[in-house]
Amino acid sequence: MPVLDEKLADTYAEVLRRNPGETEFHQSVHEVLDSLGPVVAKHPEYTDAAVINRLCEPERQIIFRVPWVDDRGTVQINRGFRVEFNSALGPYKGGLRFHPTVYLGIVKFLGFEQIFKNALTGMPIGGGKGGSDFDPKGRSDGEVMRFCQAYMTELYRHIGEYTDVPAGDIGVGGREIGYLFGQYKRITNRYESGVLTGKGLAWGGSLVRKEATGYGTVFFVEEILRHRQDSFEGKRVVVSGSGNVAMYAIERVQQLGGIVVACSDSGGYVVEEKGIDLDELKHTKEIRRARLSEYADARSAAFVEGRSIWEVPCDIALPCATQNELNGHDAAQLVAGGCTIVAEGANMPCTPEAVRVLTDAGVVFAPGKAANAGGVATSALEMQQNASRDSWSFEYTQDRLGSIMRGIHDRCLETADEYGAPGNYVVGANIAGFIKVADAMLALGVI
Ligand code: GLU
Repeated sequence: MPVLDEKLADTYAEVLRRNPGETEFHQSVHEVLDSLGPVVAKHPEYTDAAVINRLCEPERQIIFRVPWVDDRGTVQINRGFRVEFNSALGPYKGGLRFHPTVYLGIVKFLGFEQIFKNALTGMPIGGGKGGSDFDPKGRSDGEVMRFCQAYMTELYRHIGEYTDVPAGDIGVGGREIGYLFGQYKRITNRYESGVLTGKGLAWGGSLVRKEATGYGTVFFVEEILRHRQDSFEGKRVVVSGSGNVAMYAIERVQQLGGIVVACSDSGGYVVEEKGIDLDELKHTKEIRRARLSEYADARSAAFVEGRSIWEVPCDIALPCATQNELNGHDAAQLVAGGCTIVAEGANMPCTPEAVRVLTDAGVVFAPGKAANAGGVATSALEMQQNASRDSWSFEYTQDRLGSIMRGIHDRCLETADEYGAPGNYVVGANIAGFIKVADAMLALGVI
């Protein structure tokens, strides 16, 4: 890892000491601190008020037991989390992840990323994240409902439209948000739409929210291409994952004339030179909740088991699966295959080594906290609609999303220029996000 500025190195050492074994959290903090050298040099007030040290320590961390009964009548115990990281800009905001790999370190890394991502959107939202080590895979609808109800039975006391507003992430989609919202409503006797986002359209949800993370990532890349007098037309694109983010990234690339030749799940990847069939993919994933190999069977397409999707040559790569899914070796393969742009649809899918390989080779790299901010930005638009008891059209909401993504893109480039790293989206995103939160924290005093 690169060497940090002296003051920042002390902060990082403290983070390591306080959060032993939480490697993903360490990685996300290091990545931000690595960009902040020129900021602390120019603005000693941030160091004097210990803003960075305060930022690295969550305001509140909640860990709780989630007991529930499975279909066989057996009692199951999971662990629930909500890390309320920073509320300088607004109520804590960020998704819930249900996946067996979830532990405190994952929730903290996601919550930390969320602070800067949310700041970049320009919307009044703080940063938080939550989830559970519950594995929804293979669970019946009834089991998922009972788990969500048990999870909310503890979580409800910590959240609220002015306090903390969860949404979805891996393993939490419209179905889970429905069960969570139902239980919140039952316990509190309040129809408080703004307490959760990603809701169904009939009960307070927003058009475009489902598509927003994937579409937003593609809007961001469109902006990168526009700056290079280029477009998606005829480009070979590889999208990893096949969940919500991947699916709608694929949809938007196809609408813009690009060809998505491969996508994946944890079992392997599918390649189709003529392009992925989105209707079949949606049917497989959203309706049947089946594996990608079944999509490949239905299409008589090649399914490559247990290998890395990044060996497929492409012009543009969109990692939309999960953290650390693209390492240094994968990055070298992408470079060799002619890739010129990588944009993160997932949170921290590229390892630090991968980012180094890509940037050294001149590949344009857009980090998740900028490129995938469209999801949470549209969540904030959902909160606006809930607060005004209104619902907006698809076109209007999509236009708002488009202009938010263009705004983030431009802010990243301007900030990177100002701090002597022209064209570096990582530096631009980290510094622009940081300054917004840090200024608010200074103004609010030592709290
Ligand atoms: N989980 C999404 C993210 O990583 C969305 C969070 C939200 O909408 O609050 O940004």
